Amino acid sequence: MEKKIIIAIDGFSSCGKSTLAKAMAKALAYVFVDTGAMYRAIALYFLRNNIPFNDTVSIEAALDQIELRFKFNAASQKSDMYLNGENVEQEIREMRVSQKVSEVASIPAVREFAVAQQQAMGVDKGIVMDGRDIGTVVFPKAELKLFVTADPSVRLERRYQELLQTDPSISKDAVAANLQQRDSMDSTRAHSPLRQAEDALVLDNTTLNREQQFELAMQWAMERIKAS
Ligand code: C5P
Repeated sequence: MEKKIIIAIDGFSSCGKSTLAKAMAKALAYVFVDTGAMYRAIALYFLRNNIPFNDTVSIEAALDQIELRFKFNAASQKSDMYLNGENVEQEIREMRVSQKVSEVASIPAVREFAVAQQQAMGVDKGIVMDGRDIGTVVFPKAELKLFVTADPSVRLERRYQELLQTDPSISKDAVAANLQQRDSMDSTRAHSPLRQAEDALVLDNTTLNREQQFELAMQWAMERIKAS
């Protein structure tokens, strides 16, 4: 029987990581984990409970109260994020959360909390995980690491179209500002910044459609599976 591997997918916001990760996990019958959803759910909890982002004691106490879980949704054919038993999949995608998530994700205690859970999910391999630090921190020994990029204007258009579906009043300028702010915070933070792992393969999908991107990534995955 073929050995299972770990596939780590990192990159900037809105460059199609989750779409790719989901499709690869489905094709390989692997588990898919969207780590951004975990940071978003933690940020939502902090916002709801007015946790000050600079108070270590309150943060530690809040993290003790947080239980994160992914549950498969048969209707949408994808996993929804549950925060303490409540389905928060929609709410964590709202701009209110997007505006604060990078700040929350830069807190060392938050990262330790999330990373420990992510590493536990990968003990049996057979996992495709997407985020910012998967190939560098969560699974530095992953058999396949992809660093996904796309032209900023292409990323903005994709993200804008996605958000328009749930919020027709959203402005393109607000989406652009949020993407820029998150990219900058994610790549300059002191703890686990977004960076390309030395042994990552770069996948620039500016001119690729979903199928072309999927074909290329699957070709790399099959090579690594055979070699493992
Ligand atoms: O992937 P998504 O854009 O939903 O992630 C939301 C935010 O969570 C990112 O902008 C980043 O600040 C944070 N994040 C992170 N590390 C990860 C995944 C996401 O810091 N592994």
